[in-house]
Amino acid sequence: MKLILLGAPGAGKGTVAKMLTNLDGSVQISTGDILRGAVRAGTELGKEADGYMTRGDLVPDSLIMGIMEERLKEEDCQSGFLLDGFPRTIPQAEALKVLLEKNNIKLDMVVDIDVPRDVIFDRLCTRRTCENPECTAIYNTKSNPTKVEGICDKCGAPAVQRADETEEAIGHRLDTYTEKTAPVAGFYEKEGLLNTITGTSSDVVVDGIKKELGI
Ligand code: AMP
Repeated sequence: MKLILLGAPGAGKGTVAKMLTNLDGSVQISTGDILRGAVRAGTELGKEADGYMTRGDLVPDSLIMGIMEERLKEEDCQSGFLLDGFPRTIPQAEALKVLLEKNNIKLDMVVDIDVPRDVIFDRLCTRRTCENPECTAIYNTKSNPTKVEGICDKCGAPAVQRADETEEAIGHRLDTYTEKTAPVAGFYEKEGLLNTITGTSSDVVVDGIKKELGI
């Protein structure tokens, strides 16, 4: 499947993407994970992105489009992909449209996961993420804690609170979402690709997507 997952930070895009990956082997492409990997590795990209990310600002469109152009060319994307956290601005959506047309790639659907802001705020404050870039499992200290505090159940790496998940940065990320990313749903509505699913449970969202795709 070739899907875009839209929704505020904490709406469940990453969790839903991981669940869908298990269905047919389509790959999850998370620009946030790619950027965090670059920051950890200390690459030029990471150095440029770090400040924006810690503040909860968006990284410039030109950097993101450079990453995505390369990523979508890779072999593992050819049978299917789930874009998680991209596009996040109208210029990114427009550039992606050109990129997909150039490479003859057709999207199946764009899913907007709609979750109330107060639920999201609470979720992000209590979220823990596995640091291992090969794993990136997501936990929640209230609803889905790790068996051993601070250790990923799946791979044993540290499961930590992200640097951009302080209350201040979360508030800023949600405002940025409202201003810059929420309009992207309108872009795909005009393209006839948008499907909005309201739900705080990832199982419900995945079932909704499966039903729409007829799988
Ligand atoms: P995420 O893990 O998707 O919440 O992304 C974490 C951070 O990475 C965001 O707050 C942005 O600073 C940056 N980021 C991720 N994806 C994008 C994107 N498509 N455009 C701009 N910045 C991004």
